Amino acid sequence: MTIRVAIIGAGPAGFYTAEALTEADAEIDLIEYLPAPYGLIRAGVAPDHQTTKKIQKSYAKTALKPAVRYYGNVKVGRDVSLDELREIYDAVVLAIGAPTDNPARLPGADKRGVYGSAAFVGWYNAHPDFRNLDPDLDTSAVAVVGVGNVAVDVARVLVKTPAEMATADLPDYAAERIQAAPIQDVYMFGRRGPVDAKFTNVELREMGRLENCVPIVDPAQLPDAVEGDYEDRDLRVREKNLATLKEFSERRREEKPKGVHFVFYASPVEILGGEKVEGLRLERTRVEEGRAVGTGEFFEVACGAIVSAIGYRSTPIEGAPFDEKWGIVPNEDGRVEDGLYAVGWIKRGPTGTIATNKPDGKLAAEQILADGKEGKPGRASLEKLLAARGVRPVSFEEWQKIEAIEEANATPPSPRRKFATVEDMLAQLERAEAARETGCPGSARA
Ligand SMILES: Cc1cc2nc3c(=O)[nH]c(=O)nc-3n(C[C@H](O)[C@H](O)[C@H](O)COP(=O)(O)OP(=O)(O)OC[C@H]3O[C@@H](n4cnc5c(N)ncnc54)[C@H](O)[C@@H]3O)c2cc1C
Repeated sequence: MTIRVAIIGAGPAGFYTAEALTEADAEIDLIEYLPAPYGLIRAGVAPDHQTTKKIQKSYAKTALKPAVRYYGNVKVGRDVSLDELREIYDAVVLAIGAPTDNPARLPGADKRGVYGSAAFVGWYNAHPDFRNLDPDLDTSAVAVVGVGNVAVDVARVLVKTPAEMATADLPDYAAERIQAAPIQDVYMFGRRGPVDAKFTNVELREMGRLENCVPIVDPAQLPDAVEGDYEDRDLRVREKNLATLKEFSERRREEKPKGVHFVFYASPVEILGGEKVEGLRLERTRVEEGRAVGTGEFFEVACGAIVSAIGYRSTPIEGAPFDEKWGIVPNEDGRVEDGLYAVGWIKRGPTGTIATNKPDGKLAAEQILADGKEGKPGRASLEKLLAARGVRPVSFEEWQKIEAIEEANATPPSPRRKFATVEDMLAQLERAEAARETGCPGSARA
């Protein structure tokens, strides 16, 4: 008998779960809030890292398998409730990710010019929720709080030249804003030392090869060697990062018009300015037993914008339990409640790479099959429900039409010119439909 599964969220974790379930006798429905699939692959991974985004192609193959159906533009909690899905499906998988920022709890965090990285990255990646962020980048200096890969992405996107971004899919409005900005210096601040920084070495090294921008590190902040009790792989990454930072410490600010400054042992304490950000006050720290401890010595950096890249957070979904402390749905190895499972960032929190989500999907599929509950109506009931509410789901074939228009609209070598609003995406389908009905080839360009 066929087991009917609803997966909420079409990011990596959702797709890996769907893929694993296609091995079994299962009917798999991927329910996604946006018309566009792929979660943070489309809206998080940096626009100039197109090789990473190529994983989308394998997800598309999964979506086109006969057992799988995609329902884009359907938000669980708005168009259909989790309780309703649990009523009509044998199993429901939460794959909704961690879409919001850990709040920057600093005095002055409400000033104009302070942005969380989820919002800022969503803005330059054309995520409809952040299209209207309208960041004020009219400043010569930007501070990025955090020393992980997301912080590096933000810094790099802010300082790359148009030529370096030619192969990216940065939307026009973001490219125009960033290129017009008089940014000369980007400061990245980490509370702990260089050895504790979370970036991967490939991302870090890229900062040393930028056309117009030089990486700056104070050699006095770099230890001679990595000390501490680390697993082999972890130790190697930290050693490579330290070696890269040592190379950076020999560079000089005068070499290039722009600089990205890596500043360690610095904990932000206050955002300065009036209605708008004018600077950041920080306390110098030392690391004791792995924790940053304030030294009582303070310093200030003038900057007109601050991007806080201190981690992501899931949001509760009505009908499922939520652990406020850890910002996840509490689960035991992915099992949440009877018939309810969690995968990806909503299960584990916002850590790891795209590939880290794959074992989650495989495990959830195994659990669903082992739990072996069958007999609910699934898809047929979902479609009835959506139709009764006037919800307009976007099928995967329809998404591919939108995607083809994004690709056709691009200026090579950029791979696509993204639509940044749901209305724009749906309008493409309406135009195509109207053109089909009248027999006239309608203009599909935005
Ligand atoms: C800025 C950034 C850059 C990154 N860059 C890289 C990188 O270069 N390489 C790498 O390996 N990893 C990278 N990662 C990590 C990678 O993106 C994540 O590991 C992965 O996307 C997590 O997958 P997920 O499916 O759990 O969540 P997501 O990718 O966030 O997918 C969740 C999906 O659920 C949907 N959804 C949410 N709520 C609802 C709802 N109520 N109803 C319906 N749908 C809903 C969302 O719209 C989204 O499509 C990056 C992460 C970030 C934040």
